[in-house]
Amino acid sequence: MVSAPVATHPLQFASDNYSGICPEALEYMLNANSGDVPAYGDDDWTQRAADTFRTTFETDCEVFFVFNGTAANSLTLASLCQSYHSVICHELAHIETDECGAPEFASNGSKLLLAQGSQGKLDPAEVERLITKRSDIHYPKPKVISLTQSTEVGTVYTADELIALTGLARRYGLKVHMDGARFANALVASGKTPAELTWKAGIDVLCCCGTKNGMGLGEAILFFDRSLAEDFDYRCKQAGQLCSKMRFISAPWLGLLETGAWLRNAAHANRMAAYLEQQLRQIPGLDILFPRQANGVFVQMPPPLIDALHRRGWRFYTFIGSGGVRLMCAWNTTPEAIDALVGDIKAAIATLA
Ligand SMILES: *Cc1c(COP(=O)(O)O)cnc(C)c1O
Repeated sequence: MVSAPVATHPLQFASDNYSGICPEALEYMLNANSGDVPAYGDDDWTQRAADTFRTTFETDCEVFFVFNGTAANSLTLASLCQSYHSVICHELAHIETDECGAPEFASNGSKLLLAQGSQGKLDPAEVERLITKRSDIHYPKPKVISLTQSTEVGTVYTADELIALTGLARRYGLKVHMDGARFANALVASGKTPAELTWKAGIDVLCCCGTKNGMGLGEAILFFDRSLAEDFDYRCKQAGQLCSKMRFISAPWLGLLETGAWLRNAAHANRMAAYLEQQLRQIPGLDILFPRQANGVFVQMPPPLIDALHRRGWRFYTFIGSGGVRLMCAWNTTPEAIDALVGDIKAAIATLA
C-alpha cells in the first residue's frame, strides 16, 4: 500500500520548487519504469529526450542531464573557465547569492565579478566597464557573462537585450551562459522561439529548467557551441552528477517537451502571477517592486503585515531587502490559493489598521 502524505502545505507562494511532479512528467517516468535498459544515459529515453531538445531548439546542440540547477550552473561555468578566469554576473544572480560558492568550487577558483543593473538585468555599460577595468596579470581575466532568464526578480530579457550583451561578449572574446531555471517562463512571456531566445541571440550554453517547470528533479544543459562541451561528461561524472538510471531524468523531460507541457506549465504559472499581481494592485499600501513579466510577483509589504501572514501559516521568501516579499507561482498554482492569500492580506491589514 502507498500511503498519502499526512499533511500538505497549500499556504505557500515560496517557490515553484515546492510543487510536485506534473502529470506529463510523471506519466513518462512511469512508462520508463518497465524492464531493464542500459545505464548512464546509454538508453533510448535519453537519446529521444536529447533529440527532442535538438528539434525544439532547431540546432544540433550537445545535451546533458544533471540532478539540479546548482550543479548545472557550476559545472557549465567551470567548463567555460580556467581557474584564473572570472565570470561577470548580476549582483542578484543565483550563482552569486544561492549556490554557496559552488561555481568557484567547481572551477577551482574562477571569480565572480558582480555587475549592477536595474530590474535584475545586466546593464551592458556596466558589463563593459567590468570587462575593460583591468587587463593586467594581477586581475582574474573576464571570460564569461552569465545571465539569468527569467531573472531573479521575475523580469525577462528581450531578444534585443540579449543580443546587446552577447555582442559585447563576442567583441571581447567572452562566452555567454544562461541560467534558465525559469527559461520556459521567459520563453512563453516573450513569444519568441526557443532558438530565438538562446543561440540565435548569441547564447553559448543554456541550463534549462526541469525542477521548477514540473519535474521531480533534473536539469538539462544545452551546449549550442559544441566545442565547449568537450569532456563535459567526465566533469559531470567526477562531480557525482552522472545519474546511472538516467532514464528517470530523461523520460520526464521527454514528457515535458513532447506533450508541450513545459510551455503549458510555464504559461499557467505566468498567468497565475498576472492574476495575483492584478489582485495585489487593488490593495492600497502595497507596492509592486518589479515589472511582473514571468511567474513571480515582488511586493513591498509593511513588516507587521508580513508577520501577520506568517502567523496565518503562509510561506514566502523575504530576501529582497527589508519588506520585499517574493511570491512565486508554479504549474499547479490555483486561483483559489491566490484568492485565499489576498483575502488573508486584506484581513490582516484590517486587523492591523
Ligand atoms: C532554483 C534556481 C536554480 C537552481 O537551484 P537548485 O536548487 O540547485 O536546483 C538556479 N538558478 C536560479 C535562478 C534559480 O531560481
